[in-house]
Amino acid sequence: MNLERNIFDWPVNLNSFSTNEILGWPIKDVFLGFFMILEIDNLLPNELRTIIKKLQKLLDMQENSKSIINEVIGNERQNICCPKCKSTNIVKDGTYKGRQKFKCKDCNKKFNALTNTPFHHTRLTYGQIEETYQCLVDKHSIRKSAKRIGVSTKTAFTLRFKMISCLKFIRTNAKLSGDMELDEYYLSINLKGTKKENMPRASKKRKSSGSSKRGISKHKACVTSGIDECDNIFLELAGTGPVTSDMIKNTIAPKIVNPKKVTTDCKSSYESIAKENNWNLKQVKSGTYVDDDRNNLANINSIHSELTSFLSTFHGVSTKHLQEYLDWFSFLKYLNYSIDYLEQADYFEKCTITKQTDIKFDNVCDNHSILDFYDVYEDYHYHPSNSTT
Ligand SMILES: [Zn+2]
Repeated sequence: MNLERNIFDWPVNLNSFSTNEILGWPIKDVFLGFFMILEIDNLLPNELRTIIKKLQKLLDMQENSKSIINEVIGNERQNICCPKCKSTNIVKDGTYKGRQKFKCKDCNKKFNALTNTPFHHTRLTYGQIEETYQCLVDKHSIRKSAKRIGVSTKTAFTLRFKMISCLKFIRTNAKLSGDMELDEYYLSINLKGTKKENMPRASKKRKSSGSSKRGISKHKACVTSGIDECDNIFLELAGTGPVTSDMIKNTIAPKIVNPKKVTTDCKSSYESIAKENNWNLKQVKSGTYVDDDRNNLANINSIHSELTSFLSTFHGVSTKHLQEYLDWFSFLKYLNYSIDYLEQADYFEKCTITKQTDIKFDNVCDNHSILDFYDVYEDYHYHPSNSTT
C-alpha cells in the first residue's frame, strides 16, 4: 500500500481543510494519523519502518526540546488558578516566548502554567526531566542521579526535593479504614547539612542540671504511622520525643475513617483518642508480638523495617528533609502496589508535574520540617540559622 497515493485518492480534497485545526493539529494530519491507525495492520515492513523512523525523529526532537515541558504542563493543568491567592478569577495576558501568560484579577499576580511548579525556569530538556523521574523511581543516590541526568550534584539535589515536595497529596488524601495497625517510628535527629562548628555540643550548664537522656529523648524524631487491611499506609513526622495524644490527634487520627479494629501497642496516648472516637482499640503488650486474640503489629513493623532500609540507601537523611522522604517512600509503595514498573516514572510525572512547590535552588537547604531544632537543642550550642549543606 502506498500511503501517499492513498491520501490523494481520498474523495475529499484535504488541502481545503488546511486552515482548520483539531486540538491544534492541522485537520489534514489528523485524518492521516487516523487513517494510519486504521490501516496499521495492513502496512508492509518498509512502510512500518518509515513510520517508526519518522516517529523516532519526532520523539528525539521532543526529548531534546527545552520548551515542550510548557505544553506537557499546559495539557495536564485543567484548572489554572493563581499561584499566589488560588483564585480562579484569571484572564489571559498575552504570550511570552510562545508561553501563555495569565493575570489574576483578584491580586494582579502575573504568571504562566509553569509558575511555582518543579519546572519553573527549568533549563532541562524534556528527556532530562523524564530521567529525573526515573531516578526517583529507582531510588538513585544524588551522585548517580546527577550523572544519569547530566547535571551538577547540587542541581540533582534541588530537583529531587522539588519533586518529592510535590508528594504531600499522598498524606492529605490518605485514608485508613477497616482493620488497621498504628505504631510510632523513632529515629535519631540527623543534622546532615549543618556546618561542623555549628553542630550542637552539650554545654556545662546542661550537665549541672543533671537531666539524663534516658528512654526516648527529645533528640529523637517521632513519626506516627499506620497501615490498614488494604495496605494503605500513612507516615507523618509528628514531633520529637515519645508520642503524645496531641501528636496522634494532629497527624494520623483524622485519617482514620470507619475503623473496624485499631491495634496499637500499650501506650496510653492512644486510649483517650480511641475513647473520644469510639474506636474498637486492641492494645498488644510491648515485648509480645501477638496477644491472646491474635491481634498483632506485624504489618506496621514490616513497613518500619522497609522504611529503615529505604532511608539507609541514602546513608542517613537530614531530619529537616525527613517528611519529604516519608512521602516519597509512601508514594513508591503505592506505585509498586498499583502501577507496572515501566509506567511508574510516567505516573510519577503525571501526579507531580503541575503541583506547586516553594522549594528553590537557594532555599533547598533550609529547614522545611515542622521541627524547630533550636528548641530541640535549647540546652546545647546550636545555631540552625548558620547551617548549610
Ligand atoms: Zn491571585
